[in-house]
Formats: sequence, structure tokens, C-alpha cells
Amino acid sequence: MITVRELAEKMEVKPNDLIKKLMGLGIFATINQRLDMDAATIVCQEFGFELKVVSMYQEEEIEKKAKEAENPESLKARPPVVTVMGHVDHGKTSLLDAIRESRVAEGESGGITQHIGAYQVKTPKGEVTFLDTPGHEAFTAMRARGAKVTDLVVIVVSAVDGVMPQTVEAIDHAKAAAVPIIVAVNKIDLPGANPQKIRQELSQHGLQPEEWGGKNIFVDVSAKKRLNIDQLLEMIVLQAQILDLKANPERPGYGIVLEARLDPRRGSVATVLVQSGMVKIGDSFVVGLCHGKVKAMLNDAGARIESAGPSTPVEILGITGTPQAGDAFSVVRDERQAREIAEKRNLLYREQTLAHQRHMSLVGLKSQMGVKKELAIVLKADVQGSLQAIKDSLEGLSTPEYRLRLIHSGVGNANESDVLLAAASDAVILLFHVEVDSRAEEVASRDGIEIRKYDVIYDLIADVKAAMEGLLEPEIVEVPLGKAEVRQIFKIKGGAVAGSFVLDGKLARGASAKVIRGGNILHEGKITSLKRFKDDVKEVDKGFDCGIVVDGFAEFQTGDEIRAVTKETRVRRLNPAPSPHV
Ligand code: GDP
Ligand code: MG
Repeated sequence: MITVRELAEKMEVKPNDLIKKLMGLGIFATINQRLDMDAATIVCQEFGFELKVVSMYQEEEIEKKAKEAENPESLKARPPVVTVMGHVDHGKTSLLDAIRESRVAEGESGGITQHIGAYQVKTPKGEVTFLDTPGHEAFTAMRARGAKVTDLVVIVVSAVDGVMPQTVEAIDHAKAAAVPIIVAVNKIDLPGANPQKIRQELSQHGLQPEEWGGKNIFVDVSAKKRLNIDQLLEMIVLQAQILDLKANPERPGYGIVLEARLDPRRGSVATVLVQSGMVKIGDSFVVGLCHGKVKAMLNDAGARIESAGPSTPVEILGITGTPQAGDAFSVVRDERQAREIAEKRNLLYREQTLAHQRHMSLVGLKSQMGVKKELAIVLKADVQGSLQAIKDSLEGLSTPEYRLRLIHSGVGNANESDVLLAAASDAVILLFHVEVDSRAEEVASRDGIEIRKYDVIYDLIADVKAAMEGLLEPEIVEVPLGKAEVRQIFKIKGGAVAGSFVLDGKLARGASAKVIRGGNILHEGKITSLKRFKDDVKEVDKGFDCGIVVDGFAEFQTGDEIRAVTKETRVRRLNPAPSPHV
């Protein structure tokens, strides 16, 4: 959604030259008009450029990365950011409390610890930042929004209860994000605790303790009795050193919103995890669709601070509007720039909410083949037996050229966590004899996540196989839109405008058009321009005059008929269900 002016600036050509080129392609655009992707791609090629389309937030993301790559010597070590996950009641909250308290005990913070969604702990070997929103749903929800905040995951498993369904979910979510995992075997103070058994159970899920030659650190702890908490922290710091985490504290700060709310007294307040750079009082910033100027900052202990560097969680005041968790926060040059970016994002956001977010789908696989030779799957089934059978069959499908990646499987309905995982990992969800929870269904349809339900294992396998072989191509169906009669022809540079009258239905810009003369189709092409008088319009209804430009055709005659159709893709199954008429 770039304007003619912006595109010209990026290619360093004169806007007028670009407009001329566009005209040659039958596209009549003004300098401030936004181009669609097809038009922009083609016109860029004309200038010898290859167009890469990025999403609205990635643009800044790319700039950031580019800047950091510029200057490796300005990179300094930064504390790791840790998320605690695990099954309910295994002690996530208790562990976070125990860790927080270990710092208070050291007298680092005198007063009450204010809850701001994250906190930092000082250890003799370095600092560690903990996200205070335990659970893999929050973690993956962030990731689904494109925010990678966590460097390390601590999985808490109760030494009494052992590996439970959400333990497995948590492991799969962490693995899908390719984040190193440290295991905290909790509740070792209890009589029934069996930490060795936990190690065995977890090795079934791909977590091998270091002491057995694997690569995962295990620490036996008791959150309640405060046993081995220091050891756990030490292991986290050690693992972080291996990760060699770095950031540039000199550059303008950027980070991610962990939570935001409207405070009746203080206005909009957001907890931001600074990921790199420095955020200072007085800095102008954009955050999601909002912007502002840092009025005040509070650290995790509730103390006012002047600046915050990499891996520091801070509460920021001075935001116009309320951002959302997962929004990107970036310090920008000045207030004006902040306002401009926010305005543009709002505009894009309104337009984008109309267009669906694109995710991986079985049908779309073929077009992606060159790019991504991998299909990620989340699989849910009614019983363990079927689940195992499907898993076994799927495993046999991977080929050296094409990898199937079963990122999560489990018994039961597809829940919100499954959908979030699929969204974050660009996976499809396959269901066998189970349903989708209503909340999950909502999220899936909002984010465009493909969910397929099956009653026969063979069908499921056949579809996946077909998808891998690129056979599940969609069927393209033409839906008639309307027709117009050509009444007058205007020659223009590089083409012709057909002054027409809409006889039936409607004509729409972007629709496919057939030029028909004496019953024969002379040409088929896209309607690249549609005008009512001097104005560009999206559609023209029956009974109105309009000017039509059809891509690649200039030889109109009066009396020609222009028929517009839209092309819809319909999913084709390998084993089509018998049609109801038979
Ligand atoms: P979460 O659901 O994972 O956040 O678990 P909580 O932290 O809320 O803990 C669940 C229950 O287990 C609470 O009653 C805790 O007191 C208890 N608990 C947590 N850690 C320990 C521990 O190390 N030992 C014992 N005995 N109980 C614990
Ligand atoms: Mg809890």
C-alpha cells in the first residue's frame, strides 16, 4: 500500500516518470494515490527493481536490523528475557514469586514490589529479566503478533504430578519458537517427589538432561521452601551466556508492549520491554497505532527512572491512546514523525482489517513450494490410538525435499492455544473426530488459520500428501459481475479508454473483463482503470456511464460488449464428497 510518491522516492526516480510508466501500463494514478501490489510489482520491474512486500510493522523491523548490523562494535551484552511455563498448579506463580523475593531479600529493592508484568533480578553473575505473565498462551499470542520477546523458557514440572498435557503444550510451544528450554523440577520438598522420573518422562518429549548427555539443563527446586532458587538463576545466566545475547544501548530505544491499560489518574500506561537501544524521558515514540512522548518512566520496583536500556521492563506514561500487548514500541526522531507514522499505521490498519491476514494453507502450499519446503501441522484427535496412528502415517510422508513438521499433537478439541500456535508457526490445524472450541474458531477465522476436519484417517493423509505434491490446487470459478456496452472510444497514450454504459449488474476495478464482439471473445484482461467522469471509482452500477481501461487491449469499437467477472478460488478435495444431487 505504497503511494506513487513513496515508490518513486524509494527507487529514486522522478514521480512524473513513474506516473508516465504507469500510464503506459494502463494505470492512471495521481502522485498521492496508493498502488496495489500487482501494479507496484510490474512498474518496479519496468525500472529494473524487484519489489519485496513487507507488512506494516516489518518495515521498521527491517530498518532496525539493518542499523544494528551496521555497527557490531556498538553491541553490548544484555540480560536474558525469561518466560516461565508449565501445567496449571505446578508452581509457575510460586516460582516467579520465589525468584522475585530472592532479590528483595538481598536488599536490592527497599519498598513494595510493584506489579508491572515483568521484573529484573540481579544475580552475582548478571541480571535476568522475567516476564510475569506465565503460561504458553501469552507467550505464543505475542509470537503470533510477530513479537519475539523471550530468549529462554523455564518449564516448571511438579516432581509429584509429572508431565501433564499443558507441560507437553508448553514444550511444543517453546520448541516451535526455537527457544532454549531449562527445566525446573518443582515441589521437591514433598514426600512423593521423584525428580528422576520427571527426567525420564521428559526425555520422551525430547528434553534430555545434560547429566544424561542431552542439552537441557534440569534444576530441582522448591518454590515453596525456596530451595535451589539461586542455582536455577545461575543456570539461566549460564545458558544466556551461551546464547551471547547482545543489543546496542546507544541507538534510539525500541521494544515490545507487554501490557497496557487506561489508568483513571495517570492516563494511558504501558509496560514496555526495551529490547535494544535507550528510552529516555522526553523521547518521542510510536507504539502500535498510538504515539506519544515519554512523560515519566517507572521501573519494576515502582521507582522513577530517567532512562531504560536493553532487556529492561519499564512502565511508560505519556501515550496518546492505548496500545495493545505485543505492539512494537520505537523511539523516533521527533513528535512530528511520531504522529505521521501513527497516522499512516491507522490508515493502513483500517485498510488491512478489510483484507484477511494470509497464513499457510494446504491449498496455498504449491505457490509457496519454492520458498518454504515445509508444512507445519497441529494435530488434534479424539483418542490416543487414532492420534498415534495418524502421527505414524504422517511421519512416513516427509521426504528429503519436503519436510512435514508436526509441531504439536494432542487429544481433545482444538483450543485457542492450538490456534495461536498455528498462527505463530504458520501451521495448518488438522482435526480428527474433534471440534473447534468457539473462542478458537473466532481467532482462527480472524487470523485466517486453516482448520480441516476429518472423519477418515485415509482422507487426512491423502490431503496432506496431495498438498505436499502440489496437487491440491484450487479450482478457479468465474462469477459473472455485470456487462457494459462500449459507446465511445478515447485514445490515450499507450491505450484506449472505452466510454461505456453499464447494462447489467456492475463493473469493478480489478475485475477480469472479456471484450466481446459479435459473440466472440476478442480479449481477456483486468480492468485496470474505472472512472466516472474524472474520478477513479471502484465500481459502477447498472444504468451509469463510465470509462473503462482493459489491460492489454486498445482496439475497442462501438458496440463491443465488456463483461466483467470475478474469479473465486474454491477448495478442491482429492476425494470429493458425492454431490447431493446424486
Ligand atoms: P501455577 O498454577 O503453575 O501458577 O501454580 P502456583 O504457583 O499457583 O502453585 C500451585 C500450588 O502448588 C499452590 O498451592 C502452591 O502453594 C503449591 N506449590 C508451588 N510450589 C510448591 C513447592 O515447591 N512445594 C510445595 N509443597 N508446594 C508448592
Ligand atoms: Mg499461576
